[in-house]
Amino acid sequence: MDRIVCVNCGRELGLLSLKDRLADGFVCLQCLVPVGITRLENSAAFSSAEVRALISARTPLIENFSPTRKIGSHLRIDDVNKAFKVRKEVFAFSNLASFELLEDGEIVTSGGLGRALVGGALFGGVGAVVGGVTGGKRSRSVTTSMSIQLNLRNCHRATATIPFIKSEIKQNSSVYKSIRAAAGECLSALQTIIDSQEQADHTERSETAFNSAADEILKFKQLIDAGIISVEEFEAKKQQLLDL
Ligand SMILES: [Zn+2]
Repeated sequence: MDRIVCVNCGRELGLLSLKDRLADGFVCLQCLVPVGITRLENSAAFSSAEVRALISARTPLIENFSPTRKIGSHLRIDDVNKAFKVRKEVFAFSNLASFELLEDGEIVTSGGLGRALVGGALFGGVGAVVGGVTGGKRSRSVTTSMSIQLNLRNCHRATATIPFIKSEIKQNSSVYKSIRAAAGECLSALQTIIDSQEQADHTERSETAFNSAADEILKFKQLIDAGIISVEEFEAKKQQLLDL
């Protein structure tokens, strides 16, 4: 058998070494654990280049994580480093694609990138909440499970869960109300992450559009210099291109 090495650190890996198999090699757990990855979900779908990129993107997030906002023990957000922490795992803002509140397996409310904001405050007193109400009318008087599921992208896992209720609780109890309020606060906070991400995406798109316009203008400038178009034609084209 060929000797195998970690695609990130280059260390030689024995049969018994803890490692994840990639599409084109192996990565050792000593490289993953320090960046908060205890298991690379669906690891065979990752190339070695993707895993190296993932490790280097996560290193500063993990090292610098320092929450600026906390919602109990459920969710910690670092607005400076644009990262959030759920159950000991840190993710980048850009990892969050969408989220939904599940109660007894039904989606009660959801939010995410590119979704219209619909509906008002579902959870009284915690500010505007997010997303459309898709769950049906509920008539039960107890809840046996409640959690927020996060759908992630460009990440070592596809989903993460914030648990709130794991055993039967009466819906008219004060415990239930306070848990539901905390879940509502988490939903609002998650929406702020999505909003800041959409803002960042928008800025990036504008910059890209400006850069490609600038490139075009340079090409037309060369056409004047070569005597192919007139200065007037160049000015007209420039106006058109800059009118983003
Ligand atoms: Zn390694």
